[in-house]
Amino acid sequence: MPHELPKAYEPGAIETRWADYWISEKLFSVPTPPEGETRPVFTLLLPPPNVTGRLHMGHMLNQTQMDIVVRWHRMRGFITLWLPGTDHAGIATQMMVEKQLEKEGKKRRELGREKFVERVWEWKKLYGGAILDQMKRLGASVDWDREYFTMDENLSHAVREVFVRLYEQGLIYRGNYIVNWCPWHETAISDLEVKHEDVAGKLWEIRYPVIGSDEFITVATTRPETMLGDTAIAVNAKDERYRHLHGKKVLVPLIKREIPIITDELAQPEFGTGAVKVTPAHDPNDFQAGLRHNLPQINVMDARAHMNENAGAYAGLDRYEARKRVLADLQEQGFLVGEKDYALSIGKCDRCGTVIEPRLSEQWFIKIKPLAERAKAAVESGEITIVPENYRQIYLNWMTNIYDWCISRQLWWGHRIPAWTCEGCKEVIVAREAPTTCTKCGGARLEQVPDVLDTWFSSGLLPFTTLGWPEKTRDLEVFYPNTLLITGFDILFFWLARMIMFGCHFMQGHEQDAVIKKASGEADKKDDSVPFRHVYIHALVRDADRQKMSKTKGNVIDPLEIIERFGTDATRFTLAAMAAPGTDIAFSESRTDGYRAFANKIWNAARFMFMNVDRIGPGLRPSNANNSGVAGFAVASLEDRWILSRFNRVAADVNDALATYRFHEAANRIYDFFWGEFCDWYLELIKPRLNFEEGADSSAAKIACANLVNLFDASLRLLHPVMPFITEEIWQAIYESQPPLKSIALAGYPQANEKQFDLAAETEMAILQDLIVSVRNLRAELKVEPKVKVPIEVFAHEPKIRKMIEQNHGSVERLGNVEKITFVETSLANRAGARGTARFDVHVIYERKIDVAAECDRLKKELEKIEKELANNQKQLGNEQFLSKAPEKVVEGLRRRGQELLVLQDKTKSKQKELGCS
Ligand SMILES: [Zn+2]
Ligand SMILES: [Zn+2]
Repeated sequence: MPHELPKAYEPGAIETRWADYWISEKLFSVPTPPEGETRPVFTLLLPPPNVTGRLHMGHMLNQTQMDIVVRWHRMRGFITLWLPGTDHAGIATQMMVEKQLEKEGKKRRELGREKFVERVWEWKKLYGGAILDQMKRLGASVDWDREYFTMDENLSHAVREVFVRLYEQGLIYRGNYIVNWCPWHETAISDLEVKHEDVAGKLWEIRYPVIGSDEFITVATTRPETMLGDTAIAVNAKDERYRHLHGKKVLVPLIKREIPIITDELAQPEFGTGAVKVTPAHDPNDFQAGLRHNLPQINVMDARAHMNENAGAYAGLDRYEARKRVLADLQEQGFLVGEKDYALSIGKCDRCGTVIEPRLSEQWFIKIKPLAERAKAAVESGEITIVPENYRQIYLNWMTNIYDWCISRQLWWGHRIPAWTCEGCKEVIVAREAPTTCTKCGGARLEQVPDVLDTWFSSGLLPFTTLGWPEKTRDLEVFYPNTLLITGFDILFFWLARMIMFGCHFMQGHEQDAVIKKASGEADKKDDSVPFRHVYIHALVRDADRQKMSKTKGNVIDPLEIIERFGTDATRFTLAAMAAPGTDIAFSESRTDGYRAFANKIWNAARFMFMNVDRIGPGLRPSNANNSGVAGFAVASLEDRWILSRFNRVAADVNDALATYRFHEAANRIYDFFWGEFCDWYLELIKPRLNFEEGADSSAAKIACANLVNLFDASLRLLHPVMPFITEEIWQAIYESQPPLKSIALAGYPQANEKQFDLAAETEMAILQDLIVSVRNLRAELKVEPKVKVPIEVFAHEPKIRKMIEQNHGSVERLGNVEKITFVETSLANRAGARGTARFDVHVIYERKIDVAAECDRLKKELEKIEKELANNQKQLGNEQFLSKAPEKVVEGLRRRGQELLVLQDKTKSKQKELGCS
């Protein structure tokens, strides 16, 4: 049966077919390895995308790099586990469903918690799998049998276990705290979820009357409505201006509350008036000062940032409306003494853009210092390596200046905190399962705390919870620590740091299976509690002009659209080829188009191969699919020696590059080899051997054909991790759909065989290529018609070079379109139509014959055309009315074209003169 490949390469259908096949055949599913397993292990956790997510270029880059590394390990015989899943994404998902409800005219609170959570689960069932479906289309070689969702029962169980243990260890506490509060979401959010914006604001100066005198103290504020919650005025103890007021009181205007004047570092004499208002419930610095002086904390706003009953006459107003009214009243009563423009930085909720209000509320915290110390040491000691190096330092700095982590969120969607409040005695009970009676008073009326945990709490546990923790499983023994984590810089703190803290804490004392650890090449690592041994931080994908992609700029590139147009393989190749570590990628479609052409080139080469196999040796197969190099290759000529050597060198480089995350180098080396050496040279050089005459001896052709098949097979395996689809399609076709393995993904990855390095062959071939390229260039310079064969003269600087060229004269003649080679004994370098190199000089003998009359005719027409356009151009540029109306760019363009036309006119005229045209 002849091989059949369609004429044109159409990635769409081929890619979906193989993506489905890989999944239905469960090719990437990894059962738990038994005791006594001696193969090395490679484990990688997919950074779980949000269930609300849609695939973007950042994912695409991340997934491409992960899939390359994973496929590369699998082909090298590692037990390779890539674990996929999705994150419940508390705040993002809740917002999505709330917006959906809003469209139906409903509100979350009207629905009630239970109904709302049901609604989110429904939403998740319907839409939550979208991003994984997109991943499947990419061919990501993950173990779908192990897919998890962060709210799965087993993972939720682990979350409760972690919470209770931390609480019992005194590492979780509850406290009043100033948190970043989003009034839209009505929840606390972490510092990391606040984005800061510089805006033009105002600074208002308000004076407070000192009780028992006719003096005033003036303070400045950007948020005058918070004055309703003031509980002190602070001055600096060293500030002489206020020494006589120490211990006195002032009256808060509008609400007429008496508050003390205190001395505190909060007030800086050189800043403003040197006096500041202290509002402990509405500012983080004031909160700390309040604790120092035991000041009352008066909260004047509710969860939606509306003024509450403590705000007196302003109760019920939105904070900005209250601000206007407070200012108007202060003005009217003579307390407002100044208003200045002021540049300030305001915090906004990263998700909804609402301005953050610092708010006093009761929250749950993790005492972070003890966890951070271990996590810092794990990186300092090299138990975890981070590449690129600069991120290691960023991580260490962050771990040094870390604050307690507020883990509670006032949301309904997420892991509910396993704590209950006794309605009788107000005791808070933390437990693994819902308690039935109060441990303190024995009361039975217990209410679970309404808060849920920050999403990053559960995702921080994934390296061990996905492997069965808290049970002591065989999976943990084998796959923990994970080998590698590949992620973006943006979640370095949110996710990576938390995983390290939790991993080191909860897996303390863990030991990986010693045999597997040794086989995996990690025997020198002492600490097995770390969640992963290596971290690679990938760069950002920007647009072609190096701008960050954003919806507002409208420059977001949709990876699915790119895939639709160019194919997944070409898209993956683009991202790999541009991914130098630490350098952002300026994604350009023209590059992707170029790699689609690369896929076409490979496709056409495969068709050429199959045509020859069907003619010369039907049924020919690669010698050994599961080998780690080129097998069954019979060296019969210089080009054979050369290509075999080149292949091995490239294999060495590619393996080196992949081991150090230099994806760009790996991709570019394969590209240069496959296109530049294999297709452009090797295939051309072996053509005469393949083209034997009917009835003649075909043994040489059979050898050449077998070499071609074996080399092609090995090259496909080399390329497979970067372009999995086209390589699978051709590889399967080589075996006429009856391959010895289910997939090329399970075949061996080429390793360099140093015995097949052949420096002499590479040097000789370089000379031959140089000679052929020189002839081609000289032909172009001399404008030789493509079909015309030309004689050449060659002066070889050494006899052995002359001998080598003589032996390969057929190649030079065919590829250089040369009629005959004559060797001469003197240098040719100075001749016209000649080129000299360090090894040889070559001269192309050609005299150009042209039809003078026809050429003159052509030049005349060309000149007429130029002059006509020139006249038009000058007319337009002379028209004042036109010039005043036309856009500057247009005028500029016309001027430039005018210059060009003048040059062209000149050139054409001198050509006419040269030829003697009349
Ligand atoms: Zn918000
Ligand atoms: Zn009680």
